[in-house]
Amino acid sequence: MSILEFLLDSILDFIFIYECEICHRHLEDKKAIICYDCLHKIEKVEPIKMNETFNLKFGEHGYITKAFSCFHFKEENIIQTLIHELKYRNKKSIGILLGEIVGNAIKYDNDFTSADALIPVPLHKIRLRERGYNQSELIAQGISKTTGIRVINDMLIRRKNTQTQTKLNFEQRKENVKDAFMINKKYKSFIVGKKFIIVDDVITTGSTITECAKELINSSASQVLVLSVAIAS
Ligand SMILES: [Zn+2]
Repeated sequence: MSILEFLLDSILDFIFIYECEICHRHLEDKKAIICYDCLHKIEKVEPIKMNETFNLKFGEHGYITKAFSCFHFKEENIIQTLIHELKYRNKKSIGILLGEIVGNAIKYDNDFTSADALIPVPLHKIRLRERGYNQSELIAQGISKTTGIRVINDMLIRRKNTQTQTKLNFEQRKENVKDAFMINKKYKSFIVGKKFIIVDDVITTGSTITECAKELINSSASQVLVLSVAIAS
């Protein structure tokens, strides 16, 4: 840490009181974002449940070899609050933290760690300009920190500025994201025979991830896996 960074850090410590994003209790470790108690209250996805959900969402088409999500996504649960803060309230550090949690959960799983790159689900350039950052990219950075797998941000391009999916049903979502993505030409030859992990914040119907995976497989990627912070059941 340089003297300048140290000074800045001390000033920030003086100005802000760091508190848990969920229960607002004071945090000793300002990088923690949420307290230990709240972190351990988040409902984790059991492996057997993950298999069930995987088959339901991705079993049919075979583009995706394996998927892992850390937490259940439910109305008003802690993870929904955190994702909301990350996406709409500029809390970028939440993305890195959640990514680190996901990374730690899979860092001994060779199926994942042998991947050639992490590919965050891209935002359309208009949405990216509005938000200023891509939350999935931050999550991928967190995963990269713990696993050492590189992140490639510009391999997939979102060509359709799709409407927000929250009020759509399964069929409407599928139609909404159909052919929404394309491969960046400069990676056409790099992709061949490689294994990729698509990274997203929340998997709901799985149609967005499926579209991304379809593009990679159609460009001759050998395998596509999926990591997300949370999954809706
Ligand atoms: Zn708390």
